[in-house]
Formats: sequence, C-alpha cells, structure tokens
Amino acid sequence: MEKRSIYADNAATTAVSEEVLEAMLPYFREGYGNASSIYKLGRDAQRAVEDAREKVAKALGAEPREIYFTSCGSEADNWAIKGTAELMAKKGKKHIITSVFEHHAVLHTTEYLEKHGFEVTYIPVSDKGLIDPEDIKNAIREDTALVTIMYANNEIGTIQPIEEIAAICHEKGVIFHTDAVQAVGHVDIDVHKQGIDMLSLSGHKIHAQKGIGALYIRKGLTLPNLIHGGGQERGKRAGTENVPAIVGLGVAIEAATRNISEKNVTITEHRNKLIDGILTLPYTRLNGDRDKRLPGNLNISIEGIEGESLLLMLDMYGICASSGSACTSGSLDPSHVLLSIGLKHEVAHGSLRLSIEDDVTDEDVDYILDVIPKVVSRLREMSPVWEKMMKGEKYE
Ligand SMILES: *Cc1c(COP(=O)(O)O)cnc(C)c1O
Repeated sequence: MEKRSIYADNAATTAVSEEVLEAMLPYFREGYGNASSIYKLGRDAQRAVEDAREKVAKALGAEPREIYFTSCGSEADNWAIKGTAELMAKKGKKHIITSVFEHHAVLHTTEYLEKHGFEVTYIPVSDKGLIDPEDIKNAIREDTALVTIMYANNEIGTIQPIEEIAAICHEKGVIFHTDAVQAVGHVDIDVHKQGIDMLSLSGHKIHAQKGIGALYIRKGLTLPNLIHGGGQERGKRAGTENVPAIVGLGVAIEAATRNISEKNVTITEHRNKLIDGILTLPYTRLNGDRDKRLPGNLNISIEGIEGESLLLMLDMYGICASSGSACTSGSLDPSHVLLSIGLKHEVAHGSLRLSIEDDVTDEDVDYILDVIPKVVSRLREMSPVWEKMMKGEKYE
C-alpha cells in the first residue's frame, strides 16, 4: 500500500483551518487597532472581539457577557478552580470534589490548593471510564465549595453524565465547573439547559490557534479577578486583547458546532471500524466505554509492546498518533487515566490513542488497519515481554 499521511492526534492539537486563518489575517494587517482605543481602528477591533464573544456564547447556549477570553484551556481551568476556592473560602467552604482522571490543568491545580489549606476528594472512575453521579452526591459536604468534573476525557474519550452531576450540585447548592476542552465541537452543549456554572474550552483543539481559550461563567457568579490591570474582559482579566486569536476562536467554534450530529455519523463509523479491526489482534482491549465516548476517539491497549515504539513505527508509515505511555516525557509511570480504569502498568504502557476527524477517509481507515497489525507483530517479535507471555511465564 502506498504511504499516506494521516493525522490521528486531534486530541493533542488540531491544524488551524483555512477559514480561521483567513478570518484572522486582517487583524494582523490593517485591523491592528487596540480594542480599547476610541478611533475607528480601535472600535473595529472591539467589534471583532464582541462578535467572537457572541459566537462562543451561541455555540454554548450562553449569553455573550458570560464568556471571558483566556490565553488557553489551562488558564480557564486554573481561574475557575482557584477563583472559586478563593471566593468560597471566605464563606468557610474549603472542600473541592474532582475526579482521579482529570487533565493535569485541573489535577495540578487542586493539588496546589491542597497545599494551601483546601481538602480535595478525588472521585474514582469505573473500569469503563465513567463517573457515577451517586459518588459525587455522597462526597458533597456542608463545606463543599466546588465540583469540577471533565466533560469528556482527553485520553479515553469517555463522556461523563454532566447534566446529572450538575443537577446534584445545584440541589446541594454547590458550584459546578466542567473542563469541556475535549467536548466542545464534538457533542452538543447547552450550558444553561445542562445547569453548568462554569465551562472551560480551548481554541487549539477545535482548529483555532494555540494560546487562546475561554471560560464561561454563569451570570450571578462573581469570581475574583484573574489578572489585575486594565478593564478588559469586564475588568476580570486584564491585558490588551489578542484580537486575531479571539476572532479565530469565534470562527472556529462556529464551524465546529455546525452540524455536529451530521459530521459525527461518518466519524463514528470510521472509529468503530478501527476499533473492530484492531481488536481482532490477540491480547488487545478497548479502553473506555464503547458508546459513551467521543465519536473520534479510540484508545486500545495492545499487550506485549511499548506504546512509544508503536508511535515511532506508525510515524514511519505517516500516521500521527498518541499513547498513554509517557517515557519520552521523563515519567516512568503510565498515564494516570489508564491506571484509573484499572489497567496494570504493563498493559497501560502498550496503549494507542487515535483521535480522528472528518478529514479521515475510508482509504485512510483501511491504510491504518493494514499498517497496525504489521507493526504490532514486528514489535511483538522483538519484545521479551511478549515472548514470556506466549510461554506462559511471569513478566513484569
Ligand atoms: C488540551 C486540554 C487542556 C489544556 O488546554 P490548553 O489550551 O492546551 O491549555 C485542558 N483540558 C483538557 C481536557 C485538554 O484536552
């Protein structure tokens, strides 16, 4: 088969789309005004920012004044969590609930707060990668300030029962935040209907540039200001607006949320074909619930191989993918997400994540399904772990 070039790592980042780039370019060139200036050049920039805010609000079912632009998804998560912590600590509420398999932008923030007098409950997830809302209900206390649960997991793609969790929080008078960086543009979201108090999103996961994000904050909820300075973002996050990036995010979220269910039909078909194809290999398992997952996400453990070697081999075949093994990042531990669903270290190390979108063709899917078995058997031939497994010996 002829070598192809397939980008199957959209959960890591996406390409800036042509449409987004075109919309941004004028704001680098003739439209370079400061959105705070009163002459036309400034007013035009201001209008572009407010237009983008409307687009983001519309995509989420929010009001424009509930949208605050940030520099990234991580910043939105940090602001939501630390801001709520600060706000509620004044009322004597210093308990936070989150889950064990959040993104590090959430987990490292709650760990920071633990060092500063807050108590954090980490809700476990099932072997299918799902959170039981009952666990959240049981964990809420008198002094609970915040529940923060991700909408969809970035590694195994599982979609959480957000509406149920939000309802429980409201019943108990607790603020609910969700990191929806992986969900926006892939599933239908309506923050008001779903009862979400705060929601984080990121531009570069939906074909805008890196370094732009947003936090939705329900009106009536007043977080402490994040950056002190000028009056930008209603005085809450100072700093001259990154107009091109904001414009790009507006166009990107509008495009991403257009015809979500239509787009998802083919993506889901492709994903299912990939899952079924890869699972025909012996000693493989699908990580995360088969149905309650993002349409483009598949995460499969392939025993007897190292995820990193698999990625390098796939790269030689022109396929960009990801793994839950983290040797190159300097950590010997496999992903906390894969461990949270009960995988043994050695199984987690041999995992593969593909995150595909609608640019992937039928031929691409066939190509991937042709390459993976070849690469896996080559790696297994060289693997001492696989040899031991086949002989029925013990291995670590
Ligand atoms: C990518 C990602 C983030 C971080 O977003 P950045 O814009 O890269 O800071 C946070 N949460 C999840 C679930 C993500 O996938």
